Amino acid sequence: MASVAFIGLGNMGGPMAANLIKAGHQVCVFDLSDAACQALEAQGAARANSALDAAKGVDYVISMLPAGKHVAAVYLGEGGLLANIDPSTVALDCSTIDAVTARQVGEAAAELGIGFMDTPVSGGVAAAAAGTLAFMCGGPEAVFPKAKAILEGMGSKIFHAGPAGAGQVAKGCNNMLLAVHMIGTCEALEMGARNGLDPKVLSEIMLASSGRNWSLEVYNPYPDVMPTAPASNGYKPGFMVDLMVKDLGLAAQIAEQSGVDNLMGKLAQSLYEQHQAQGNGTRDFSSILERLHQD
Ligand code: NAD
Repeated sequence: MASVAFIGLGNMGGPMAANLIKAGHQVCVFDLSDAACQALEAQGAARANSALDAAKGVDYVISMLPAGKHVAAVYLGEGGLLANIDPSTVALDCSTIDAVTARQVGEAAAELGIGFMDTPVSGGVAAAAAGTLAFMCGGPEAVFPKAKAILEGMGSKIFHAGPAGAGQVAKGCNNMLLAVHMIGTCEALEMGARNGLDPKVLSEIMLASSGRNWSLEVYNPYPDVMPTAPASNGYKPGFMVDLMVKDLGLAAQIAEQSGVDNLMGKLAQSLYEQHQAQGNGTRDFSSILERLHQD
């Protein structure tokens, strides 16, 4: 069993840290929120007064923070983790952040001889609680087996995507494609319904045909086709529109930095931004179907 410092105990980090405790690891937590730390203490974690205190002498540091600026603040600089942790510690950042910052932290770690990987996740709060997240890891080949060994306590699919930053690039590619096929799925279902087809029957037809995709298979956006989907529960998230807008912004940066003309990604970004501006930020991202019901 390993000793782990877990930094960032929000909607995702809280249940992820709890799963590491359940898996038998020794977990020491830190979050700026007192309540978040207390909740983990109640589940058996030790608690530190700073990220640095939590990370002293541990086998692993795992972070789950809101954005690139938080990750840079925690890891970089004189008071940051990289300059102060034992080089034998493996550090994994599970946050969804820009690929540039992820590469910067990965390169700074490599210069200090510290094993670091960007390890963003696919799967939301439910997958974090169930321990079924998918991890996309970017960083040195030699660090991956050590990363995999601990990430297995929180997820079921763990991929080595490539060098530093590759995890964030994989996440950007995936979520851009998710947004595009969700919007396409909504348009196809609405078009069928307006022409007298039952959305359930049309879904079955497309699932058995070449239009098959993840949104149709496990997350049908049309109400009452799939009882477990957010669409059948008032579009309660699930995966919030706010987070989809964040991820599409990160994907747009990656496309621009690498000279890719991502017309479909840009269109999806603009449609999700409009949907967010209309007060749908905290609803599930499949609620984009309602765009088709506006005059
Ligand atoms: P959250 O806002 O619920 O939690 C973030 C936590 O980080 C908060 O508890 C905050 O107090 C803490 N924090 C911020 N700065 C800190 C610092 N310097 N030191 C210690 N703690 C600090 O966010 P979340 O929903 O848990 O998401 C975390 C990350 O996971 C984000 O990058 C998000 O994009 C990504 N993500 C979220 C989901 C989801 O469904 N919520 C799904 C996949 C990926």
